[in-house]
Amino acid sequence: ATRTEPALAAAPRPAPGAGGGAVTARATAAIPGPGDDAPDLGGRPADRARTAAVELRSVTLSYGVRAEPVLDSLDLCVAPGEHLAVVGPSGIGKSTLTRLVAGTLAPSGGEVRVDGREVTGRPPAELAALRVLVPQEAYVFSGTLSDNLTYLGPGASRADLDAAVDALGLWPLVERLGGLDAPVRPAELSHGERQLLALTRAWVSPAPLLLLDEATCHLDPAAEARAEEALARRPGTLLVVAHRLSSAVRADRVLVLDGTDAVCGTHDEVLDRSPLYRDLTGHWQGGPARRR
Ligand code: ADP
Ligand code: MG
Repeated sequence: ATRTEPALAAAPRPAPGAGGGAVTARATAAIPGPGDDAPDLGGRPADRARTAAVELRSVTLSYGVRAEPVLDSLDLCVAPGEHLAVVGPSGIGKSTLTRLVAGTLAPSGGEVRVDGREVTGRPPAELAALRVLVPQEAYVFSGTLSDNLTYLGPGASRADLDAAVDALGLWPLVERLGGLDAPVRPAELSHGERQLLALTRAWVSPAPLLLLDEATCHLDPAAEARAEEALARRPGTLLVVAHRLSSAVRADRVLVLDGTDAVCGTHDEVLDRSPLYRDLTGHWQGGPARRR
């Protein structure tokens, strides 16, 4: 199936000196309209309802009245079913962005919309049905493996769990613990096992929007690839804060956040347009950036 690549609008740079060194980030792309332009997710028609567009309109976020904004006038559109990677140096605002989209943080200015409606102020139950945010530190609780996997998707059947465990490659852990009904002692799991469990839980959840905030950092590259590819095949929209080049290359588009600008486009487009992305990709693979 071919995906429709949303056209990128021009990304204007801020006037020199504007904002006193604050981050001005603009990354705008048109959302395909309903109907012909919607991305082909390859799923059943009913699955297409389980997708969510993400739209940021001139979003500014400061963590205090006198603090410099972390994000300043960021515009971003993520099409329903799209897979977006977010990259940028440590402390630039990637986690802040995921919290804004998840609705756990309200913007200081502008609007964050998911599925066409503002997320700020939506009731917790509505937000929970809409999105899952998987943080770097996976949440695992004492209970059975099955309890842990259905925590965000209580309606999941045993067949759904088996499919999820297959898709994410969780079988070695399931077998080691003695099956899906075996108890989990969180302290006895490795960081990687905890992350894989949290990602499998996200796959099981019915939420149409998944936000992964460096949620694969303890997985080896092969396990990370398998997990990200499985989550990208799942009907829905996927936003991944990437810490490896391969994560960015797998995505439909990449959003590069940096201190003065933001650039959004395909891997090749941002390689051309973002010196920061060229630097990051060089560091990530220990050599000059390669193209897909
Ligand atoms: P990243 O995920 O890209 O490393 P973050 O979004 O976590 O960056 O942080 C962006 C900036 O906002 C950093 O300077 C960080 O110190 C600051 N920051 C993050 N969370 C808070 C908070 N709760 N209160 C105050 N400052 C914060
Ligand atoms: Mg972060």
